[in-house]
Amino acid sequence: MRQVKPTLAQPAPNPMFRLADLARDRAEVIHLEFGEPGLPTPAHIAAAAVASIRDERQGYGPTNGPDWLRAAIAARIARVDAHHPTPEQVVVTAGGTGALLATLLCLCGVDDDVLVPDPGWPGYDGILAAAGARPVRYPLLPATDWLPDLAALDALVTPRTRVLLVNSPSNPGGAVFPPATIAALVDCARRHDLWLLSDECYDELIYAGAHVSPATLDDDGRVIAIGTCSKSYAMTGYRVGWTVAPAGLASALGIVAGAQANNLPLSMLRAAHAALTGPQACVATMRDTYRANRDLALDLLRAAGCAADAPAGAFYLLVDVARAANRPAASFDSLAFAEALLAARAIAVAPGGAFGATIPGHVRISLAGDPAALRTGLMGLLDFARAWE
Ligand code: PLP
Repeated sequence: MRQVKPTLAQPAPNPMFRLADLARDRAEVIHLEFGEPGLPTPAHIAAAAVASIRDERQGYGPTNGPDWLRAAIAARIARVDAHHPTPEQVVVTAGGTGALLATLLCLCGVDDDVLVPDPGWPGYDGILAAAGARPVRYPLLPATDWLPDLAALDALVTPRTRVLLVNSPSNPGGAVFPPATIAALVDCARRHDLWLLSDECYDELIYAGAHVSPATLDDDGRVIAIGTCSKSYAMTGYRVGWTVAPAGLASALGIVAGAQANNLPLSMLRAAHAALTGPQACVATMRDTYRANRDLALDLLRAAGCAADAPAGAFYLLVDVARAANRPAASFDSLAFAEALLAARAIAVAPGGAFGATIPGHVRISLAGDPAALRTGLMGLLDFARAWE
């Protein structure tokens, strides 16, 4: 019988897409909804892509990625994540998204469960649906600045569970999980014999604490770490990321990555190489810019009587609009609020409902854009929330 894969047949419409559709291509809108860096891609990175197009034949390449880039990624991971994979463990992918999809296609079959954080990045839903797996959400707690509720997580494991997905620094909460939390998550995966998939896309965007990769605690080959050039180098459109897998898994991952695209454009791989091996001051500049935006937003919230905890990493802030609007969080409709805010004030934010079930009273704003737009957008948001009927 002809039918679409069940997980794709009735995709739950994510409120983020609805909002994005309404805000798209509207120049008058203040865009705080997406994690899109406002700073340009550093010139030496863009120049590497241009030189490659101009000077090199753009042909087919190795499915796992060229050796020179896999070596640069392995060296970068040793430098940033204190984890020392061999280049053979690295597979180059189409961004962090491609890395997550390739990994989950390798690990999951239809009807397998994957434990995902709530609140968590909305992109996980589509990737899991494409892989055929089912998301089972484990709570991150606002009371602990969005650290996982480890007891609740443990209780969600069943014989169908295959993968524990961990994201630190986290989107949207901005938590940087401390070493004890990472150790407990690795221990949970070990006790239940799960794969642990560590999404480390924001590992260089940290303002307090330090990144601990679960891969550094992996003693039996169950941790897969993924990363990307998108966020630290403002390269979202270049689409270069990576998966770092235990030795036994890299060839399966290479098959899947090859089946997805065979190889990525050489010009983009050259740009990624320039980013990873070139001067790193641009990363510090971006981090400082996002930190200044974070502090600006926190000051505005404090002045409005809506003080929020400072995110320790990534570049987002969760704003408790139910509190600002003096409404009960449980019955707050964050999508209706975001749609009304867009219609009335031309300010786009991401509704809390896009990130799972746990933050209906929040919206997420991006701290990665222009500070003047952030100030105007956040003040407009708070003003609108106070008058929201
Ligand atoms: N993981 C998280 C937590 C993200 O926030 C994002 C992008 O916003 C990604 C993965 C995907 O990153 P990329 O643009 O490299 O595909």
